[in-house]
Amino acid sequence: MRVLVAGAPGAGKGTQAALLAYELDVPHIASGDLVRESIASGTPAGVAVRDAAARGDLVPDDVIVDILRPTLLAAASRGGYVLDGFPRTLKQAEAMDELLGTSGLSIELVVHLHVPEATLTQRLVARGREDDGAAVIDHRLAVYRSQTVPMLDWFARFQKLVLIDGTGTVDAVSAAIIRDMQEWLLRRRLAS
Ligand code: ADP
Repeated sequence: MRVLVAGAPGAGKGTQAALLAYELDVPHIASGDLVRESIASGTPAGVAVRDAAARGDLVPDDVIVDILRPTLLAAASRGGYVLDGFPRTLKQAEAMDELLGTSGLSIELVVHLHVPEATLTQRLVARGREDDGAAVIDHRLAVYRSQTVPMLDWFARFQKLVLIDGTGTVDAVSAAIIRDMQEWLLRRRLAS
């Protein structure tokens, strides 16, 4: 199964993507972790993205695609993945399709974790990561609205999106994801 877990910063993508990857027995690929790793190891890509990440801006599309490419190709050829944080713009979704689409390994389903903005802000402040300062949080939420939401609308138009209420406990959200994914798979089978 090839899934993207999407949602605003603080929606719980990382936690839920890890649980889902375990459940599906496929690799969990977190773009934010790969970005932070490349910054920490001082690779040219890491140097190029450090300031953007600290400001809460997205890393340029071509750079993030370069960072993700090897991991993504390896996982896709082994039969599946749970992506977390990539793609998050329409351009990135297109780049990913170009990379994998011809081999039939592109994203089958997007799990969209929805959490109201007031709750997101509370969660991010509590998390206290380096790029979670108040002004940066507002900026990341604005970037999400303008860049990522149009991509989610695009997946929804092709019936490739399930919307999940991300406000419950970790267990409740995880159960909702499994249940709605199974429903979606059944509907897809019936339609084919
Ligand atoms: P969050 O989802 O909480 O914003 P992540 O850990 O997923 O945080 O990402 C951290 C930072 O890494 C982002 O703010 C951004 O600068 C960069 N990043 C991660 N994924 C992408 C992506 N797909 N495109 C561009 N930049 C990205």
